[in-house]
Amino acid sequence: MATDTQTKQIDLFESPDFYQVDSLFTEEHKLIRSSTREFVKKEISPYIQQWCEEAYFPQEIVAKFGKMGVFGPFIPEEYGGGALDYISYGLIMQEIERGDSGMRSTASVQGSLVMYPIYKFGNDEHRKKYLPRLAAGEMLGCFGLTEPDHGSNPGGMVTNFKDMGDYYLLNGSKMWISNAPNADIAVVWAKNEEGRVHGLIVERGMEGFTTPETHGKWSLRASATGELVFNNVKVPKENLLPNKSGLGAPLMCLDSARYGIAWGAMGAAMDCYDAAKRYSLVRKQFDKPIGSFQLVQKKLAEMLTEITKAQLLTWKLGTMMNMGKATTAQISMAKRNNVAMALDVAREARQIHGAMGITGDFPMMRHMANLESVLTYEGTHDIHLLILGHEITGIQSFK
Ligand SMILES: Cc1cc2nc3c(=O)[nH]c(=O)nc-3n(C[C@H](O)[C@H](O)[C@H](O)COP(=O)(O)OP(=O)(O)OC[C@H]3O[C@@H](n4cnc5c(N)ncnc54)[C@H](O)[C@@H]3O)c2cc1C
Repeated sequence: MATDTQTKQIDLFESPDFYQVDSLFTEEHKLIRSSTREFVKKEISPYIQQWCEEAYFPQEIVAKFGKMGVFGPFIPEEYGGGALDYISYGLIMQEIERGDSGMRSTASVQGSLVMYPIYKFGNDEHRKKYLPRLAAGEMLGCFGLTEPDHGSNPGGMVTNFKDMGDYYLLNGSKMWISNAPNADIAVVWAKNEEGRVHGLIVERGMEGFTTPETHGKWSLRASATGELVFNNVKVPKENLLPNKSGLGAPLMCLDSARYGIAWGAMGAAMDCYDAAKRYSLVRKQFDKPIGSFQLVQKKLAEMLTEITKAQLLTWKLGTMMNMGKATTAQISMAKRNNVAMALDVAREARQIHGAMGITGDFPMMRHMANLESVLTYEGTHDIHLLILGHEITGIQSFK
């Protein structure tokens, strides 16, 4: 357990803004970003290395995130949300993932994959019952779509429920579910007797419902991942989300989460770039700072170029999200580009640190390992490419 032996690392992060992207943000956006950054410097950076070493999920972060307004900032205030726009949401995700992708995963699952479907597809009783507590961090949720045999192809899911008159009988299992071991509720996607996908709210404590933890991960180690197992679970009929069914419902949630990932990955890239820039100015070889060598400058220049392109991509996407006009394919492009970009930046930044770069004294290896999951979840790198290919040609190649 991470407790008093924590190695407190000093967080000197300064974000790059080469193209004055800040001028596109409002004062409120900048305030939200700076307060989230301060929160990360105080509550995450000093402890994250140890949490990851110990594969420890800091449960207490949930209430702290709630207090900060990190969960579902786009949800209306009457349900406990911040009624903020999508640029604000993006900046919050960027800053948290700058701290750690696992921490951002906890936040984006709660906001985009639990609160969003309850708000969009639930009725007013669902909204009043769950959203304020989820927003405040008094309750943690998870999102169950992926199954052991159905990852990129969630439409093939076998988890199912039968109408038993007074209740629904739920059977099946979900795998690779973020927050599952600690979640109070799960938004679960399952097929009814006609094979149509519906969302159900399953609560911890329901008989036959278990959430075994997945161990041995080398990635997202500070985020708890697990299974959801349903063995004849009697789900009250009022727990069905009534306002949308079909695979389009979970895919809408994924659009919102993938948008947050596009911003979040940029945070991880900025952290690696910032560490590499600083290190290149203090580390000397051949009697000179390594930053004076052209090959190191090339790496830094290319990192900054890619981060700047990603900043412009996400800002524009955010404005389209605010107007309700961003398409799935546009979101795929940003998620895919920015995660791959962040992985490349992490690798280059690690090289600039030489041997020191493989240690936990610097963030690159942790970000790099985390980003391998981010590259795969919420639609793999290749599946997003094929979504774009479908958009361009009108021909779907992955079914
Ligand atoms: C740490 C972590 C947390 C996660 N959290 C959640 C969560 O909270 N909720 C949830 O529901 N899921 C979650 N997931 C699951 C994640 O969304 C899936 O892992 C992802 O969708 C890919 O599915 P898969 O792992 O089964 O890979 P597969 O679908 O088996 O794919 C394996 C490989 O085959 C490729 N491939 C598959 N189909 C095609 C095709 N038609 N054409 C070309 N290539 C193809 C893929 O791109 C990939 O490279 C999480 C995963 C991880 C690692």
